Amino acid sequence: ADKTIGFIGLGNMGTHMARNLMVKGHSLVVYDIQSASTVHLEKLGARVVPTPAEVASEATRIITMLPAGPHSSCIIDPVFSNPFPNRGAQPNSIFIDSSTIDSDTSKEMANVAKTKDCTYLDSPVSGGVAAAKSGTLTFMVGGPERQFREIQPLLLKMGSKVVHCGPTGAGQAAKICNNMLLGICMIGTAETMNLGIKMGLDPHLLASIINSSSGRCWSSEMYNPVPGVVDKVPASRNYEGGFGTFLMAKDLGLAQTAASGSGSSIPLGGLAYQIYQMMCSKGFSGKDFSAVFQFLQEKETK
Ligand code: NAD
Repeated sequence: ADKTIGFIGLGNMGTHMARNLMVKGHSLVVYDIQSASTVHLEKLGARVVPTPAEVASEATRIITMLPAGPHSSCIIDPVFSNPFPNRGAQPNSIFIDSSTIDSDTSKEMANVAKTKDCTYLDSPVSGGVAAAKSGTLTFMVGGPERQFREIQPLLLKMGSKVVHCGPTGAGQAAKICNNMLLGICMIGTAETMNLGIKMGLDPHLLASIINSSSGRCWSSEMYNPVPGVVDKVPASRNYEGGFGTFLMAKDLGLAQTAASGSGSSIPLGGLAYQIYQMMCSKGFSGKDFSAVFQFLQEKETK
């Protein structure tokens, strides 16, 4: 049962996630607002339909992988505005939203889904494009436990770790915390590497010292922002692909909102937010977020 999976949003992440499902025996019904995004999957045998509601009328497990909250809402609304069978969600469908959005929008969408006897699970991921490709993402899921258990095997076809974080919104909370730390660590790594290079150190040598010392972090070891230090990361291909600076700015904005709402103090999170926003206004928006290394160099005094 449920061999057919609906997939909406086939960008840098969604394409690989959907492909893994196909490789593992599912048939896919897909939709993306840009028709160019579905070409690759169509070649692999996925069925492309012209509206999100059509995806929902053909599958009871629907995964969304969209840029931000407004995109998720603008998918969910039409899906539920038409009752099944007139092209809309089937009762007992489960919507798995893997986009990174704010917890409040997740809660609103969960309420809408409930009124149609469906379930919405916030289910953001960490791991980036490489993990999406290799099927080793971590899923952080918020929502009712019964439906979580139902979809866990499906998510394990795209990831190696699937964690139930609590009620609706809890998955997003975990994700936003992780990404705030990632954004801060990436800036820290970029300015550290830049300082070392400016003091005459070889970047490979500096990275290897850091990576066997206490300064080590994911950004220094797996995703070093200096071109050529790590193979096959965006820094080594002019910061193409990967995790867009605009998406990092979005996530830090979510952290800022969450911090205001919960009364938490996040001085470095706030500063990181400003830096990524500045990058967006200086033409780095579509580049991978590790391009903060390049951005810092442009600000050099000598
Ligand atoms: P992306 O911009 O590459 O892809 C988004 C896709 O959604 C695009 O193909 C776009 O055409 C489509 N889209 C936009 N609006 C739509 C709509 N209304 N209807 C249908 N399709 C629509 O983004 P991505 O890098 O794949 O990221 C997707 C989500 O995953 C984001 O929330 C991001 O924060 C999160 N995320 C990304 C990474 C990463 O490394 N790229 C890692 C973890 C989480």
